[in-house]
Amino acid sequence: MSNILVTRSSMPDYEEYCEEIKELWDSHWLTNMGTKHKQLQAKLENLLNVPHVVLYTNGHLALENVLAAMNLPKGGEVITSPFTFASTTHAIVRNSLNPVFCDIDPTYYTMDATKIESLITDKTCAIVPVHVYGNVCNVEEIERIAKKYGLKVIYDAAHAFGVKYKGISTACFGDASMYSFHATKVFNTIEGGSVCFSNDALVQTLNDMKNFGIRGPETVEFVGGNAKMNEFQAAMGICNLRHLDEEVAKRKAVVEQYRSRLSGVDGIILCPTQSDVEPNYAYFPVVFEPTQFGATRNEVFDALAEQGIGARKYFYPLTNTFDCFHGAYDVNQTPVALHISKRVLTLPLYADLSMDDVNRICDVILCCKK
Ligand SMILES: *Cc1c(COP(=O)(O)O)cnc(C)c1O
Repeated sequence: MSNILVTRSSMPDYEEYCEEIKELWDSHWLTNMGTKHKQLQAKLENLLNVPHVVLYTNGHLALENVLAAMNLPKGGEVITSPFTFASTTHAIVRNSLNPVFCDIDPTYYTMDATKIESLITDKTCAIVPVHVYGNVCNVEEIERIAKKYGLKVIYDAAHAFGVKYKGISTACFGDASMYSFHATKVFNTIEGGSVCFSNDALVQTLNDMKNFGIRGPETVEFVGGNAKMNEFQAAMGICNLRHLDEEVAKRKAVVEQYRSRLSGVDGIILCPTQSDVEPNYAYFPVVFEPTQFGATRNEVFDALAEQGIGARKYFYPLTNTFDCFHGAYDVNQTPVALHISKRVLTLPLYADLSMDDVNRICDVILCCKK
């Protein structure tokens, strides 16, 4: 039997992509805000219903740049979640800011908003929450706290492309939101990302920041980097957008099959669907409670691997335990995140995953039950 990878990138037909990039051979304009870039930007502003989208060569640099654009004081404290990809914490630290780790909600694994206020000090300048697995954070409570204490809010919305809360696009919350368009995400531009926001003044700053700080032919305003999305990435995005609805519908069918096979099993905890949320079915996390299930997360991971099935310990380890931080953070301050990170697996999930494969994966998991 063939191997099943944890993810498989969505791609348009070969001919469709070739058609899309044809004109690049006429124009010889390959990057620096070309026509494909402009088209994709307009399509995304429309789809995400947000005033501004600035495109990036990847999501991480988008997050790094938007944090830099907030003019936060060096050494300022940023409240964030350790239950995330390295990128979130690294973007904070690489901006000479100090992450302060807030624990997560035991049901949806997003930042536990009831624990934010106790972490605020006179150095706190921002909150960087993560819509983890596409689950929407408690955006209302986060907004209330941010207003009360005068804090910036930048969402790591890497997982939440297309997700809506009470009919509002996740692109619209906080001071800005970052989406990743990496190959493994629900919508991809090969590599890519964006910052979404409504503040007009931020457009020029971010556009300059991703292009060396160059404002005009003879004006370099500040020391920027290079993080521009190129035309081939944008063309891939334009093609993939055409098929987004069908891709999400196929993911939904996979998730429903997983739920029907795995719900109600003692020791298996599935993340409930959120009310008021239009989901994107980005990930399917499963938590294994070894005392009830009879097998640990690692045993299930190994059993799947033996059958050529790739699951992912996502997110493990927590970012506040990374070697690169040399024990600077106390993991015991985020006990729920620690508990979940030791027990969670995300199962293979992509649009073209067959129902036979889903059933095969579930059979292996259920065989682990003792
Ligand atoms: C993918 C991801 C990123 C970074 O995105 P890239 O486009 O790979 O740079 C950031 N945060 C989270 C939570 C992610 O999953």
